[in-house]
Amino acid sequence: MLVDFRNEPLTNFQDPTFHRAMKEALEDVRRGFGREYPMRIDGRDRFSGHWIRSADPSRPKELVGQVAAATREDAMDAVEGAWSAFEGWARVPAEARARCLFKAAAIMRRRKFHLAALMCFEVGKTWSEADADVAEAIDFLEFYGREMIRLARSHPLTRIQGEDNEVIYEPLGVGVVIPPWNFPLAILTGMTVSSVVAGNAVVLKPASASPVIAAEFAKIMDEAGIPPGVIQFLPGSGGEIGDVLVSHPQVRFVTFTGSRDVGVHIYELAAKVQPGQKWLKRVIAEMGGKDAIIVDSDADLDDAAAGIVTSAFGFAGQKCSACSRVIALEDVYEPILERVKALTERLKVAPADLEEASYGPVVDRAAYEKVLQYIEIGQTEGQLVTGGGPAEGDGYFIKPTIFRDVPPDARIAQEEIFGPVLAFLKAKDFDEALRIANGTQYGLTGGVYSRNRAHLEQARRAFEVGNLYFNRKITGALVGAHPFGGFHMSGTDSKAGGQDYLLLLTQAKVVSERF
Ligand code: NAP
Repeated sequence: MLVDFRNEPLTNFQDPTFHRAMKEALEDVRRGFGREYPMRIDGRDRFSGHWIRSADPSRPKELVGQVAAATREDAMDAVEGAWSAFEGWARVPAEARARCLFKAAAIMRRRKFHLAALMCFEVGKTWSEADADVAEAIDFLEFYGREMIRLARSHPLTRIQGEDNEVIYEPLGVGVVIPPWNFPLAILTGMTVSSVVAGNAVVLKPASASPVIAAEFAKIMDEAGIPPGVIQFLPGSGGEIGDVLVSHPQVRFVTFTGSRDVGVHIYELAAKVQPGQKWLKRVIAEMGGKDAIIVDSDADLDDAAAGIVTSAFGFAGQKCSACSRVIALEDVYEPILERVKALTERLKVAPADLEEASYGPVVDRAAYEKVLQYIEIGQTEGQLVTGGGPAEGDGYFIKPTIFRDVPPDARIAQEEIFGPVLAFLKAKDFDEALRIANGTQYGLTGGVYSRNRAHLEQARRAFEVGNLYFNRKITGALVGAHPFGGFHMSGTDSKAGGQDYLLLLTQAKVVSERF
């Protein structure tokens, strides 16, 4: 019998066995640097002669691997082949589909250190961030497998005499899955396997900054028994093959996680009905954030400072949920700033595979330049408290940076920076703090540190975010416990890792038979 869903435990690297295992995995992955990986279409390897090169952002001269880059023709083939695979896969019983996910979870558990080590090199995750990424991927497999079994059971409808009524959740067809690089295993796994366990076939186009871990995922799903063509692994540049996939008339749905601008573009393009298209495409789009933590007058300031620093600088601030604004009430503004500054200055920026790193590099040169540019903008909009430029090393390292006295309409208080940059804003009372918090186009995560029950209840109603946290950090959503998705320009509030998620990837058919 299937045991209840439980979150995968995180690894304690203080334990010498796990510590050794991680060191060995890092060495092993490094020995495999420079390998070539194919795309996989209809279960067969394919090479195009073009490559996506994936470098280590801690040491950009080192090539982690290179992955075949798809052309427009490959994209067309992938969609067509996925429909052929869909016919059979949709008829496989839900329990058997779910079993492939449970098998994949078992394989990932066995390869946990290898997968984590690969992410340390490919995207610059520290040991604990990489371990949490693998754990979340395993959680998605275990959770969505169980959810599909639940969804396939009979669902109660109001009884009518002389009639038998039934609701069935059917798959949609062929979808395109477009994940980001920042949770290169977890989010990619969640988006792909939720679609597939619901009976759909997908074209998976991974992010170009993390194609090697994506190739490892594709291999694992093959080994777990997903039939050829159900997951068409199609690495390639979003700019080059993205529009071909999204606008393809045979694509039934698109599931996207990434930046606001790309999400909006996909949403618009998918809305245009193409000649020969037989449906309105469904789009699930989860996008960026400009997430704020409010610090109330009576907050536990040590606790708040620790939560702010973890939320702002974990993985160099490259999380959609990262805290990029602190809104502190006047009377605690100086003491909370002082505490946050002190903790921030203790952070160690270093190559991500070194265990002493608090955080590593940003993901690539483009990200590095963009974040440094925002730091320059910050110099004109607020007052620099700490950091303010590159950190030592050959990689894309940036010092943890804090600006104070930033006005709510400043660019660094409005635009997603996606790096280790934090703005401090002052509010005269709690109402104003909430107004400032809600004063951006985004609405992903938010937090309040307060001991005032009335304020917490006010924020519960009025803080316009999809994921709101009280008296804790605002990152680290757990599958099952914190279904995740944003309001406003942060997305379609799809609530990944929640019980409603598979409904987005299915269509409900009601069959009524008169007896
Ligand atoms: P991105 O630049 O928007 O890219 C996301 C994905 O879209 C990548 O696979 C990218 O491919 C692809 N893409 C780019 N242009 C495309 C096009 N014209 N058509 C189709 N696909 C296209 O975002 P990112 O830098 O990977 O990720 C960071 C962003 O994701 C941040 O904004 C972050 O807040 C957001 N995010 C949101 C969530 C959430 O749950 N709300 C979670 C994680 C991250 P290429 O890599 O080949 O360009």
